[in-house]
Amino acid sequence: MQEVFLLKIGELVLKGLNRSRFEQRLMTNIRHRLSKHGDFKVYSMQSAIYVEPLGAADMDGAFEVLCRVFGVVSVCRCAVAKKDMGEITAAALEYLRDELSAAETFKIAAKRSDKGFPLKSPQICEDLGESVLNAYPRLRVDVHNPQVTVFAEIRDKAAYIHSNPAAGAGGLPVGTGGRAVLLLSGGIDSPVAGYMMAKRGLEILPIHFYSYPYTGIEAKEKVLKLADIMSLYTGRAAPIIVPFTEIQEQIRKSCPEDMSTVVMRRFMMRIAERIALDNGCGALITGESLGQVASQTMEAMGVTQAVCKLPVLRPLVGMDKEEIVRLARKIETYETSILPYEDCCTVFTPRHPKTRPTLEQCADAEKGLDVEALVERAVGEIQRDI
Ligand code: ATP
Ligand code: MG
Repeated sequence: MQEVFLLKIGELVLKGLNRSRFEQRLMTNIRHRLSKHGDFKVYSMQSAIYVEPLGAADMDGAFEVLCRVFGVVSVCRCAVAKKDMGEITAAALEYLRDELSAAETFKIAAKRSDKGFPLKSPQICEDLGESVLNAYPRLRVDVHNPQVTVFAEIRDKAAYIHSNPAAGAGGLPVGTGGRAVLLLSGGIDSPVAGYMMAKRGLEILPIHFYSYPYTGIEAKEKVLKLADIMSLYTGRAAPIIVPFTEIQEQIRKSCPEDMSTVVMRRFMMRIAERIALDNGCGALITGESLGQVASQTMEAMGVTQAVCKLPVLRPLVGMDKEEIVRLARKIETYETSILPYEDCCTVFTPRHPKTRPTLEQCADAEKGLDVEALVERAVGEIQRDI
């Protein structure tokens, strides 16, 4: 039996001129993401996206991928039937055999988008319901709380039969909002921050500050793994690795200890902004959450953001750790994030960081550093993991 995925997309965002751009980008993203699972024809018709396998394809794998594509509200895996009640009935009884055999209650939900189809929706429900009851005399109709709903959608090209649709990932298609640099550490928060902004339509370019040999190869590999898991939602982007050892050593040598964290974070923002501008990105994203640690007070965020002009997006700013952890588990980055490798921040953490740094104190702490040259060298030595 021929199968196809029918994807429903958010109606509200589809108004006006944006619609075609939104759909085109969504279809491009879907084609990229499905490339490992076979050949598919992806097209849009009647406010839905169709994903049709061309020849043998990994339909189970494709289904999992599609449930993680932003911009999709629900994913229906359907049997395709000719627009004829006999064919529709035969397809429904065969395609949903396992579910109907196991259930006690069911209902039919018919939708006739092709107004040329001779039967109206209530009539389709009645005819199909009767055939299901004849085939499964044990079943009862329950229109309020059925165990199985048999959907029959009569559309332009064919009829589509499916049971309960799966929830899509929601949000907006990645890329429709532009690109942004994600400061990706090895911790729990930043992959979640990347996920959240990708959900709002941003394409994510992850960058990682790497302080070899203070942080080992394992720490870098952990970050690459996190980027890889995150990419199931955000789409693939090769992380950029920024050598950060020299900057951290210089900070340790010439800054007051209680200012070292905030000075380090100011360097991260300067470098991130340079990389963002070089790569067509319009914002920086961090995993900061207000009050989580000493460097995430309002004042500390103020002085770190003061070194750059691009907006700094902090999607986790108002979230509790438990809420962040719940999301990290959902997107499956959590288990990797808690692997015990040092991050460059933890290695150089001062005992008593200043929680209310001022711009004057920052300027004073950075007096002994050649900020421009250090930034220049770090940017000049970035590596791209491909
Ligand atoms: P996370 O849980 O994401 O590691 P954190 O709790 O360790 O964050 P901080 O160390 O204060 O918090 O870092 C705050 C944010 O700064 C991180 O969420 C991340 O966006 C960025 N950041 C920290 N360290 C690095 C790094 N080595 N490379 C890139 N970004 C970093
Ligand atoms: Mg954190």
